[in-house]
Amino acid sequence: MRASTYPLVDAEEAAAIVLDHTPVLDFEHRTLDACAGRVLAEDLMAPSALPAFPSSAVDGYAVRAADAGRTLRVIGESAAGLPFMQPVAPGTAARILTGGMVPQGADCVVMFEDVHLDGDMVTVPSPLGPGANFHKVGDDLRAGDRVLSAGTQLGAAEIGIAAAIGRALLPVRRRPRVAVMSTGDELVEVGKTPGPGQIIDSNRWALFAALQEAGAEAHNVGIAPDDPAELRRLVTDMLDQADVLVTSGGVSVGTHDLVKPLLESLGTVHVGRVKLKPGKPFTFATLAQGKLAFGLPGFPVSSLVTFEVFVRPALRKLQGFTKLQRPTLPVRLGYDARATADRTEYQRVTLARDGGELVAQTTGSQSSSRLLSLVGAQALVRIAPGDQGVKAGTVVEAMILSLP
Ligand code: AMP
Ligand code: MG
Repeated sequence: MRASTYPLVDAEEAAAIVLDHTPVLDFEHRTLDACAGRVLAEDLMAPSALPAFPSSAVDGYAVRAADAGRTLRVIGESAAGLPFMQPVAPGTAARILTGGMVPQGADCVVMFEDVHLDGDMVTVPSPLGPGANFHKVGDDLRAGDRVLSAGTQLGAAEIGIAAAIGRALLPVRRRPRVAVMSTGDELVEVGKTPGPGQIIDSNRWALFAALQEAGAEAHNVGIAPDDPAELRRLVTDMLDQADVLVTSGGVSVGTHDLVKPLLESLGTVHVGRVKLKPGKPFTFATLAQGKLAFGLPGFPVSSLVTFEVFVRPALRKLQGFTKLQRPTLPVRLGYDARATADRTEYQRVTLARDGGELVAQTTGSQSSSRLLSLVGAQALVRIAPGDQGVKAGTVVEAMILSLP
């Protein structure tokens, strides 16, 4: 064993270093069916007013409000998509259906229920309010209004409004292409039976899912053995097609830990150790062409917690999100949280509602090899380094993964 030469960086500082070196990816134009979940790259402006014409909100008669109380001659019909193109003169009315264009001259719509019809004569009530029962030009949007801002994630409503203003294509940030690889001679592919001393590679599948959930396009590179030449070959092969490399294992100080020297030879290692539990050996490097490399620790919980703390915000920045971090909420601790002397600790908790409060309970043993401490976890509670810990009943700010 050799001692690590990398300085221990504060967890917050390491997270800032990662984001400082993370670019925003370029954008592409995509058809609306491919935009759900993507991030808009430019502000979207309304080219013209919406609605573009005065359209009836009800079925009834388009009339002049000044004709209130009179019996009017019905001169035609305006249905959705079939406008009546003549003006409604004083003393006349046009039958109108929902979505139909309000003809020129008319300034209000009277509902069918409120009129008396006799042949082609209609008697309307009094008084009538100008502007009643129809949507005016520009009620929703005026020409030149900003409809959506750059950095907005596109969901159903956003894609709907883009279509409504006539945008068949939208400029969206490219999804980061991320190659995910496990390292270690002890690993076997899931589905195979481990031999003596072997374990099943679970990190790659956990990280693959985490990458997809974070909006990345994940590419599975498989398992690299603890062999410098083979590891280098696998990594350089995949770097052509990837923006980001995520590995697990091979970053602690044992003699088989080859990821740091490899990243050192391919680029610049900015973070080689962090004051974080779990996840002390977390490694971050930049490679040629602005590519990023994350060397995550091998222990399953360490790899996923460092993914949450460092990788996910970077993936969001690459995609152009304005909000990079998980939301936080105050939660009351339902257990005594012990602190680690020299490292920030992220403890995994479940949440329950108690009156107006959220109460956090530990998910049990927080060992970095116990993946069950993350299964069902709804938040990460950050416990500052020291010998104090945080007593049950204290309200702390928690990073929310999912709400009860
Ligand atoms: P390392 O950082 O390579 O020393 O790995 C530390 C420990 O994490 C190993 O001894 C394994 O128990 C575990 N580990 C490493 N890689 C994986 C993996 N891909 N899946 C599950 N556990 C792993
Ligand atoms: Mg290893």
